[in-house]
Amino acid sequence: MNRCLPASLEDLTGLRAARWFRESTAGQYDNFGPDAQRDQQDRAIARYGLIDAGLEWSVASSGWKTAWQTPTWQAMIASAEAGTFDILVVGYVSRFLRNLKQTLIAVEDNLQRAGVAVLFADERLLTSDPDHWDQFTREAHEAEAYSRKLSKRVKEGYGSKRRRLGVPGGNRAPFGIVREGHPSVMRIDETNAAIVRRAYELAATGATDWQVAGATALKKTHIGEILTNPIYAGRLRTGEPAGITPIIDPGLWSKVQTARERRRTRTPGRIVKRNYPLSLRCLGCGRFLFGDVGRYRHPAPTCEAFRSATPPGLDRRAKGHSYQQTWYEDAVGTLLGTIGSVDDATISEVVRLHDAYQPKADELGLARIAKEREEAGRKLALTRDIVAWQATMTRLDAAEALARQPLDAPRLTPLEIVDYLRSLPALWADSGPDGRQMITSAIFARTDVLGFRRLEYELTEDAVELGLDAALPAVLELKPKVGGFGRGERI
Ligand SMILES: [Zn+2]
Repeated sequence: MNRCLPASLEDLTGLRAARWFRESTAGQYDNFGPDAQRDQQDRAIARYGLIDAGLEWSVASSGWKTAWQTPTWQAMIASAEAGTFDILVVGYVSRFLRNLKQTLIAVEDNLQRAGVAVLFADERLLTSDPDHWDQFTREAHEAEAYSRKLSKRVKEGYGSKRRRLGVPGGNRAPFGIVREGHPSVMRIDETNAAIVRRAYELAATGATDWQVAGATALKKTHIGEILTNPIYAGRLRTGEPAGITPIIDPGLWSKVQTARERRRTRTPGRIVKRNYPLSLRCLGCGRFLFGDVGRYRHPAPTCEAFRSATPPGLDRRAKGHSYQQTWYEDAVGTLLGTIGSVDDATISEVVRLHDAYQPKADELGLARIAKEREEAGRKLALTRDIVAWQATMTRLDAAEALARQPLDAPRLTPLEIVDYLRSLPALWADSGPDGRQMITSAIFARTDVLGFRRLEYELTEDAVELGLDAALPAVLELKPKVGGFGRGERI
């Protein structure tokens, strides 16, 4: 059946609303509990003049894999198909589905085909409003990347990394915030929150971290952590609401970021990692490039292989130690653009590969592992770095064991694949450093460069499953854009 979908929030009046709840597993941090979700839904229903149909579904899963596999999800879809409601109201984007692919399928195919649009109360996003689509896919993508990172960290027990990410539920709450109870809830500690406010006010006037540390009697490294943690403005580093009242006005928070960034660019050698979303490794020696004042720089001494790989037409002037950040990032954008503008022949190949992706073993993955073993052998001959070679082999052994396990992945239709691929370039173009870091980590398991001539990469398992192998060239030959060499360009 095909009912007419509301094209904007103004068209919601009089439509029937049902509710979708997502509960987290007991003991997990949470301020997005069912009550908070219901509050959000109540307000949205009142705000837009919806009629509460009295229907609701609730799932208790917390991972990114399982929500749509529940009978509850199937029951909700069946009800949507039976035409019992028009709008599915969800409290928080992050409480819906944490898998981009499945979210797109769920919304576009299952729900909207049944005449039901989704309203995300927190962000006031309506999935059937064409103007909201970009933001919706971005939110879904970020929620997924967040969830994956989180589950990976929980699994690996990286307590310290979680602390640095400022994820509530880590072992230590950020300064000025305490966690209490079980499941734990965050609360502001007013005494320390006052110190945080003082630190931000000082930093906004241009005080250095040293000066702020002196004035607040905190360590300088601690000040650096405090002044960059968005939780004080009410957000997690992933952009998700932190579920706590902001201690710092978001405007002041941004002002401090700008002030610190301005100072940083005047002080070479200080790096704020999130400004450099790519994780580039040198194809010649295997070391990672680092972000340095708008450039990605090879650590000294620059290996000969990297240094001599200067871009065509620039050989005479190039020193070959570093290249502009925008060059590398535009190259990745070009790569994603290749995905976005796939022709019919490539689409057929993507679909063929996707169909050939047998659930009994990850054959494409195994092929890549074999190729990587060969590469590692070649690299060993070149660098004689046995330690690095052994580490690679151990990692590949683990990857291979995983690839040989039976898979039970939900199948995508060709149309779904194409839609997903086509959404990627826009997602990249619209994303800031954090978003770009999430996109690259979702698609590329590694990205290796040789100077500014060559970019090689390995796709993540998910990207391989999507058939990106077929949509992407194996290697990207790097060329600066025409007119890319500005005056005063330092290579
Ligand atoms: Zn190198």
